[in-house]
Amino acid sequence: MEWEREAEEYLKKIPFFVRGKVKREVEKYLSTKGVKKVTLEDFLSAKEVLLEKMSQAEKGYEVTGCFGVNSCPNAITSSEILLKKIEEILEAENITEFLKEKVKGPLKAHHKFKVGLSECPNACSQIHITDFALHGVSLPEVNPKACSFCGSCVETCEEEAITLTENGPFINAEKCVGCGACIKICPEDALFEGFKGYKIYLGGKLGRHPRLATFWRLAKEEEVPSLLKKVLSFYKKYNQKGERLGAIIEKIGWEKIKYLLQE
Ligand code: SF4
Ligand code: SF4
Ligand code: SF4
Repeated sequence: MEWEREAEEYLKKIPFFVRGKVKREVEKYLSTKGVKKVTLEDFLSAKEVLLEKMSQAEKGYEVTGCFGVNSCPNAITSSEILLKKIEEILEAENITEFLKEKVKGPLKAHHKFKVGLSECPNACSQIHITDFALHGVSLPEVNPKACSFCGSCVETCEEEAITLTENGPFINAEKCVGCGACIKICPEDALFEGFKGYKIYLGGKLGRHPRLATFWRLAKEEEVPSLLKKVLSFYKKYNQKGERLGAIIEKIGWEKIKYLLQE
């Protein structure tokens, strides 16, 4: 499709990494209107329509995993089945209908209940800005009698969580992120996997009042579905106008929420 110079100049103001996509979408939309040459006016009207379309959401939830499954050497967990299960729960809990009723208007992308999952603590899929976030962890335990004091674990740990004492390695649980690297490197099995599962975080979001998700608890894979259901039941109970979980947490207070979720 041909573009007038003024429209082309305006297109150049759009960041390069989305410019091609924007151009394609605009041309697709304008061709349905019979436009042959894009003027600035056409472009601006198409932009308005497309932005409105992009902001609307068909579903009231979104589930995103990282690229780790079956392909990343850092992956600790393998969550294909769990991700499907999570989607089934969100569907069965009627989150879309629930939000439509609460929002009392068109459902927008920022209303969605978002679940993010990464297969390791690197958290590539921006899980910390989702409502229900998980990342895979492998937490080490120590068999000090087997330690040969080679020091490889201390060198490997990027978090400086391991100190080699005369009684063998000491792991600072506050610093350990559960990447499992020290377990893999230990030549004597003095470090072994004491727990494999997920760290769960709640209430991350962007928007006007951004908030990083707060660590809630550790969970084994088989525990995650019932914990998600518990959080959803809480989210529904305290939700007034379709607000995000993070906004509810800010209103009620994290300590109280932790207590309520224990019940
Ligand atoms: S979060 Fe971990 S497993 Fe997933 S893609 Fe990133 S590094 Fe790989
Ligand atoms: S699991 Fe990772 S972060 Fe934790 S002590 Fe081992 S190497 Fe360090
Ligand atoms: S890597 Fe294993 S054997 Fe070497 S110091 Fe650490 S715990 Fe001990």
